[in-house]
Amino acid sequence: MSEYVIAPPPQATIPVAGGGLFPVRRIYCVGRNYAEHAREMGHDPNAEPPFFFAKPADAVVTGGAAVPYPSETENFHHEIELVAAIGVAGASIAVADALGHVWGYAVGIDLTRRDLQAWAKKGAKPWEIAKGFDHSAPIGTLVRAATVPQPLRGRIELSVNGELRQGADLSDMTWDLPHVIAELSRYFALHPGDLIMTGTPAGVGPVVRGDRLLGSIAGIGTVATTIA
Ligand code: MN
Repeated sequence: MSEYVIAPPPQATIPVAGGGLFPVRRIYCVGRNYAEHAREMGHDPNAEPPFFFAKPADAVVTGGAAVPYPSETENFHHEIELVAAIGVAGASIAVADALGHVWGYAVGIDLTRRDLQAWAKKGAKPWEIAKGFDHSAPIGTLVRAATVPQPLRGRIELSVNGELRQGADLSDMTWDLPHVIAELSRYFALHPGDLIMTGTPAGVGPVVRGDRLLGSIAGIGTVATTIA
């Protein structure tokens, strides 16, 4: 007999290529990790080490499901990103050991209420309402790390209604994935089930109801959603 006084919330999961579900514990995100994107947001790309924010685990949207246009925004943006899924726990992980903590990879979209983010930045307020809202993390099928021989390079793209909006290479990251994991794990002990969204290249922009988003990373897969 359960001791829970209400029904426990469902476990958020991501489908795995070949079958099975990856349970999601936390979602960490990296800010400003491609120089051209830092510039388009008005920042010096060389100014600082990586910084982090988070989304709740149940923000994931999988299987190509639609994302409802969120409340309280008039500037809703796409950010295509590499997602690394942690399979081995660790804290203060060395750069050289970092990729050994990764279970797999996926393609994700860090959906952003850009107007609320601008408001938060201006007032030195937290970013949750801009980044951590419901349905803010569409993620494609997870592939096992063993099937991705070169996770540090590969074309990353996002198109909206068939028109290319973002295009770059994973090797354009200011802080590559091993450095991101090393730095993040100085602040948080990472555990199996944690996801890391590794930042977006330049070309972010608004989407509206009815838009079809398709993202891809060479050698990893795709992510698709529609704004409803
Ligand atoms: Mn992002």
